[in-house]
Amino acid sequence: MRYDIAIIGSGPAGLAASINARIRNKNILVFGSSDMSSKLVKAPSIDNYLGIESLSGKELKDKFKSHIESMDIKIIEKRVNNVYSMGEHFTIVSGDDMYEATTVVMATGVEYGKMLKGEEEYLGKGVGYCATCDAMLYRNKIVAIIGYNHEAEEEANFLSEIASKVYYIPMYKLESQLNDDITIIEDRPTEIKGDRLANKLVLKNQELYVEGIFVIKDSVSPKYMVPGVEVEGPHIKCDKDMNTNIEGLYVAGDCAGKPYQYLKSAGQGQIAVSSAISYLDKKR
Ligand code: FAD
Repeated sequence: MRYDIAIIGSGPAGLAASINARIRNKNILVFGSSDMSSKLVKAPSIDNYLGIESLSGKELKDKFKSHIESMDIKIIEKRVNNVYSMGEHFTIVSGDDMYEATTVVMATGVEYGKMLKGEEEYLGKGVGYCATCDAMLYRNKIVAIIGYNHEAEEEANFLSEIASKVYYIPMYKLESQLNDDITIIEDRPTEIKGDRLANKLVLKNQELYVEGIFVIKDSVSPKYMVPGVEVEGPHIKCDKDMNTNIEGLYVAGDCAGKPYQYLKSAGQGQIAVSSAISYLDKKR
């Protein structure tokens, strides 16, 4: 089945895109997480959301949730690994699953933290962002997972059934759902080292010999996710209508650039979907 619009991200940008697409009766796919966005949930108090005087991020998340549920919009709770432009449509890859859509709105947010030293150099050479996708390469090998969110625990559990040893380095307060054979390391990673391939994870207080390292973040740089997309630092380049350099691919929210704000993100989600719908209309 080919969808009209695939929306990648369930923060304010992706959700605003999804409700506007639903109002216009489009056939949509929305990828994201059950808590919508960790950046929403973490905000202690929001005072600049027009029409709402003061509320916590969690309260705003609950309002977003009830809004999308009232419109029967379902979030597919899966990470998208890659988006490929196939000319007439896009193929969206998530683990072993593939989806097709005529247009895509990228609303994946940005990772505020910096990359680890060596992360970019060894990306694809022993460093990856999706353990479930690449697990088979690490059969009977020693692997470290640096997890920035709870979803990383699922990836670690999956990998522990294939690898000979899994180290898990939580970058958040861990309430462990991990298999017993995974070794938890409470330390701060500083660098990835290696020769041709990555083989060492340097932490503040120790070094681990490893054969693979996965860094599981809320979002990864768009240039790794969408081959061929033009970027500027962590952002996807776009024009005022949220068009990117790839026809049919739009962007909204933090991943389109600063300022990083809820209302701006939601507004851009709306513009991105309008542009996607104009494109769909032209193709009919
Ligand atoms: P995000 O909210 O980051 O959402 C991106 C979504 O995409 C997430 O659900 C993520 O899981 C999902 N995603 C990413 N990659 C993938 C993938 N590959 N597959 C599937 N899903 C994916 N702004 C204000 O205006 N006012 C405030 O008071 C305010 N307070 C803040 C407080 C804190 C602590 C923080 C961290 C930020 C605050 N901000 C505030 C900024 C605001 O949170 C962001 O600007 C806003 O959340 C951006 O929305 P977004 O939809 O672009 O991205």
